[in-house]
Amino acid sequence: MVLRMAVPNKGRLNERAVELLVKSGLDLGEDWGRKLYVKVRNKDIEVIFVRAQDIPSFVDSGAIDIGITGQDQIANAGADVEEILPLDFGHCRLSVAVPESYPYRKIEDIPDGSRVATSFVNVTKKFFESVGKKVSVIEVTGAAEIMPYMNVSDFIVDLVSSGSTLKTNRLVEIHPILYSQAVAIANRKSLSERGEEILDVINAIRSVMNAESKKYLMADVPKSRLKDVEAMFPGLAGPTVMNIAGRDDMVAIHVVIDAKDIYDAVNSLQKLGGKGILTLPIDRLVL
Ligand code: AMP
Repeated sequence: MVLRMAVPNKGRLNERAVELLVKSGLDLGEDWGRKLYVKVRNKDIEVIFVRAQDIPSFVDSGAIDIGITGQDQIANAGADVEEILPLDFGHCRLSVAVPESYPYRKIEDIPDGSRVATSFVNVTKKFFESVGKKVSVIEVTGAAEIMPYMNVSDFIVDLVSSGSTLKTNRLVEIHPILYSQAVAIANRKSLSERGEEILDVINAIRSVMNAESKKYLMADVPKSRLKDVEAMFPGLAGPTVMNIAGRDDMVAIHVVIDAKDIYDAVNSLQKLGGKGILTLPIDRLVL
């Protein structure tokens, strides 16, 4: 039976979500960008492209087995899904923001009866209920930022990442409601019935994420400096050391290291007499 997977069809989460699947080794073909769904060529998986906000309820209902979406969307949909793997992109927070001219900077001070514009109606209602405020929530599908200036609302609840959009629109962030990032989710029943297939996909994605922060480094180093070289690489399992045919004075080392350490590692190896130093990207790394 085919495994159904949902991925955001456009917007901020689309590109990276697709990249993770492709790098995982799932062959989506060439023209996936124009289709609503594609059958993965090399696996019994169907990838459906829908809006990020629709994915939580599709996964909750079982129409879809696994998906990639934002945690903010899961919270707003109130979806009961299993969050399996945080994906470390699409980081943002849902925050209360007020116009610079608004007199209040604390949630406690906001008067009952105020109007808040947001596309996150459910989370916003729950939040203001939880702090005992009676505000009226006005649903907008986008551009919440301009609602206070159109006098549609007094303030807004919206997603923030760098904060530059708020600044441009002369809004001040006063309170975060929730923090979010992209996450891989699964339907609970699918997970219990087809856990192995689902975890195969998740593990493949995890291996891509692991690999992206690492580099593969190869070098020939003097045998006499091997102790120093080994001390340089305490990571993973330390370097693999191999003999070089016809050379008694040099050995070859292979090691996986953090990409951020590559600059220092290459310089240090060179100073230890290393030759033929080579660094390579890694596609996947299963730990
Ligand atoms: P989309 O509306 O399809 O562009 O997707 C929006 C999703 O991207 C949100 O639900 C968040 O999960 C994520 N996201 C990350 N940063 C931001 C941001 N600064 N503004 C809006 N959405 C963001």
